[in-house]
Amino acid sequence: MFDFAIIGGGIVGLATGAALGRRYPYARILLIEKEAGFGQHQTGHNSGVIHSGLYYQPGSLKAELAQAGNESMRTFCYEYGVPFDVCGKLIVASKPEQIPQLNALFERALQNNVPAVRLRPEEAKEIEPHVSCVAAIRVPTTAIVDYRQVCHALVHEIQQQGGELKVGTEVLQTVSTRLGYLIETSWGSLEARFLINCAGLHSDRVAKLGGVDPNAMIVPFRGEYFELKPERRHLVRHLIYPVPDPELPFLGVHFTRMMDGGIHAGPNAVLAWKREGYEKTDFSWRDFAEIVTYPGFWKLSSRYFRVGYQEMFRSWSKASFTRSLQTLVPEIEADDLIPAANGVRAQALRRDGSMVDDFLLVEGKNSLHVCNAPSPAATASLEIARKIVGKVPRPGRLSLVKMA
Ligand SMILES: Cc1cc2nc3c(=O)[nH]c(=O)nc-3n(C[C@H](O)[C@H](O)[C@H](O)COP(=O)(O)OP(=O)(O)OC[C@H]3O[C@@H](n4cnc5c(N)ncnc54)[C@H](O)[C@@H]3O)c2cc1C
Repeated sequence: MFDFAIIGGGIVGLATGAALGRRYPYARILLIEKEAGFGQHQTGHNSGVIHSGLYYQPGSLKAELAQAGNESMRTFCYEYGVPFDVCGKLIVASKPEQIPQLNALFERALQNNVPAVRLRPEEAKEIEPHVSCVAAIRVPTTAIVDYRQVCHALVHEIQQQGGELKVGTEVLQTVSTRLGYLIETSWGSLEARFLINCAGLHSDRVAKLGGVDPNAMIVPFRGEYFELKPERRHLVRHLIYPVPDPELPFLGVHFTRMMDGGIHAGPNAVLAWKREGYEKTDFSWRDFAEIVTYPGFWKLSSRYFRVGYQEMFRSWSKASFTRSLQTLVPEIEADDLIPAANGVRAQALRRDGSMVDDFLLVEGKNSLHVCNAPSPAATASLEIARKIVGKVPRPGRLSLVKMA
């Protein structure tokens, strides 16, 4: 019988396993991952940015945990020898109409205690010589890292603590028992006193297996990327982001320098007809049927019809993708862009068509479910883990509570 079973070996599950092991060194901890390795979904397909925490609604979990996460992730990387680079980023207004929104972002940075500096166009060009803008903000604490390497370090830590890691093992059913949970997996049955669901794109389904209704469905949004040809990488030095549309949960296509020196451009956001559908043609009848029969989907579609159409058009038209990038760096040409690996974001959607903006942790009987952990959850992962550890009962108490 394990004290804790964590479902999902992405960065949130791994960070939770390591944090539990630090807090309760004698607890029996199990982490179950359905793929053959860790961090193979959202965590292994992201932009690799350690965000600053600037964008988020003050007082929200995202604002609190991203800002703290920026610091704790950098400290973790330093301590565990994971390379990272605090290169900073520019957010640029390409036209005068975007200046009020840029000003609002600057105010938000102050409210969230995130260091930020207003720049004139000529000052922005000193940092990014090829950028075009009418005004910009520089955020010096934004950094880059390869989150797969962070996962390796977390796996190592869990192993050192004596935690058990099972890969290639899918959780198929969870049954509440007098002592906790019976977990049926593709490998066999396991027992745990407390269940922690960090299943990312499948977190709503795993919650339902445990009898918990998160009141939201995960909708997958594919983010498609290009990368700059090596000989054109000089056009972008660090990270260049547009002013985001405040109505949308995504930041808009941007340029990101990766740890291997490559420059990624993207991601856009198109609805995926398969939860782990990385290619345009990927399709799952189950996922499709679930999406189109969910009332929230139709409400969302009618609200964002124009944006959705534009994103789909940009997905199929490299010329349109290029035009979006040219608003940031006009010298970019379609020929400079090579397709790169895509990612799929798990975004929780309510029945009323509103997207769950904040991180969402739902408590159940002897269980805790991370039901919405989109960006910046990789940045915030160590802090999300700390929050989870603060919410779960101590292992000794678990057995006492159950015996009573
Ligand atoms: C395109 C893109 C760009 C992003 N850019 C950034 C960024 O730059 N910075 C940032 O901070 N965040 C970014 N994010 C967000 C960030 O990557 C995610 O928020 C984070 O990785 C979520 O981690 P997770 O562990 O919750 O999910 P995941 O990494 O998806 O892990 C969930 C795991 O659960 C496993 N699982 C699911 N169901 C089961 C089951 N039944 N049994 C066993 N295992 C199961 C899956 O196989 C998976 O490995 C980005 C995301 C995307 C998609």
